[in-house]
Amino acid sequence: MCTNNKHKHWQPATVTIHGGKAKDEHGALVSPLYQTATFAFANTAQGSARFAGEEPGYIYSRLGNPTITELEQRVAALEDYPAAAATATGMGAVSAAMLAFLQQGDHVLVSDAIYGCSFALFSHLFTRFGIEVSFVDMADLEQTAAAMQTNTKLVFLESPVNPHLKVIDIAAVAAIAHAGDAKLVVDNTFMTPLLQQPRRQGADLVLHSATKYLNGHGDVVAGIVCGSAEDIELIKLTTLKDMGATMSPHDAWLILRGLKTLDVRMQRHCENAQQVAEYLRDHAQVREVYYPGFADHPAQPLMGTQMHGAGAVIAFELCGDINTARQFLDSLQLITIAVSLGDAETLIQHPASMTHSPYTPEARAAAGITDTLVRISVGLEAVSDILSDLEQAFTQLTTGEHQHG
Ligand SMILES: *Cc1c(COP(=O)(O)O)cnc(C)c1O
Repeated sequence: MCTNNKHKHWQPATVTIHGGKAKDEHGALVSPLYQTATFAFANTAQGSARFAGEEPGYIYSRLGNPTITELEQRVAALEDYPAAAATATGMGAVSAAMLAFLQQGDHVLVSDAIYGCSFALFSHLFTRFGIEVSFVDMADLEQTAAAMQTNTKLVFLESPVNPHLKVIDIAAVAAIAHAGDAKLVVDNTFMTPLLQQPRRQGADLVLHSATKYLNGHGDVVAGIVCGSAEDIELIKLTTLKDMGATMSPHDAWLILRGLKTLDVRMQRHCENAQQVAEYLRDHAQVREVYYPGFADHPAQPLMGTQMHGAGAVIAFELCGDINTARQFLDSLQLITIAVSLGDAETLIQHPASMTHSPYTPEARAAAGITDTLVRISVGLEAVSDILSDLEQAFTQLTTGEHQHG
C-alpha cells in the first residue's frame, strides 16, 4: 500500500482533498469503496502473520479497512496528529476515547457546558462504573484548577459551546490538566480543524462528530478521534475492537467526499453566519444574540490565535414567550426545523422543547436555556434568501400580535 504522506507541506485546503490518499492500481481518481467485512489471506502463514502483527495488512473490517484508513489519515493530518480512529457516531468517539484511559476510581473533570449526550454519558453511565465525574465552569480558570484531584486522569471540554457559544481558553485548561498529569480531550465539532486545531493549544486528543461539518451533507452519522500513535492504538485495541463502535466503510467514503469541500464550505458558512448574526442583532424583535464573531464577544482575544473564524452556529433570544418562539419557527419556509448542524441546509431548533427538553425546568433555567432561545445552524444557501425567510417570519409575528390585540 502506498499512502500519500506529502501533507506535511500542504495547506489545509489541499489536505482535505489529497490527505491520506492511497495509490490505486487502476489509477482511479476517487479512492474505491472497500465495502467488505473481511479480507482473504493468501495462505495460513499470511493469516497468522497478520494476527501476530508481524505483517501489515487487513484482517476484518472492525479492526481496520482501507477506506476507513484513508479517512483516518486525512483527518489526523488536518488536526496535525499522527493518527486517528474513526467511530460509528460522534458519541462513539467520546465514549471510546474516554473509556480507553479510565478505570474504577479515576476522576474526570468536565466542562459544565457540553453536548447533551456527552453530559448524560459522564453523569449517568460513567458514575455507575465507579468513575468519579465533576463539572466545572472552564471559563473560570481558578475554579478549574481547584477542581483537579490527585486521581484526575482526563479533562474534557468543548469550545465554543452549545447553545450560548461560550468560548474556553484551551491552552490555559491544557496547562492545568498537564500540571495534574491528566490528558486534555477536546470536542472540536463546532469549529473543524480549519478554524481551530486544539493540538496547538496542547490538547492530547481531539474528537469530532463527523456527522456535522466534516461530512457536511447530512447523510451520515459518524465520529473520529485524533491523537498520538500510542493513544490511538490503545483506543483501537480496547474500546473500538472490543466494544465495536467502528465506522462503516460506506460512511467513511461519503465523509471523504464531503471533506473535499470543507475549506470552501467553512468560508461560506462563516460569511453567511456573520451576516445573519448582524441582521438578528439589529432586529427589534430579538433581545440578545450569541455569536463569537461580534467585536464585543468575550472570545475576541482568542480570535486569530485559538480560533480562526467564528463558525456558523448562532443562538438568539426572541422578545415574547414560548408561543412567539413556536410561531416564529413554524412560519419559516426555507429554513428547516431540525436538530444537528453543519449541513448545507440552514437548520433551526428550539432548545427548551428539543435538544434540552430532558433537563428539568430548574436545570434549564440554571443553564440559561429560556423558552425564547432559538439556535440556528447557518447553511450554504444564498444569504439573501436566508435573511428574507427570517424577515417574513418576523413579519408574521407582528401580524399575530395585532390579531391578538
Ligand atoms: C452532534 C454532536 C455530538 C454527537 O455526535 P453524533 O454524531 O450525533 O453521535 C457530540 N458533540 C457535539 C459538539 C455535537 O454537536
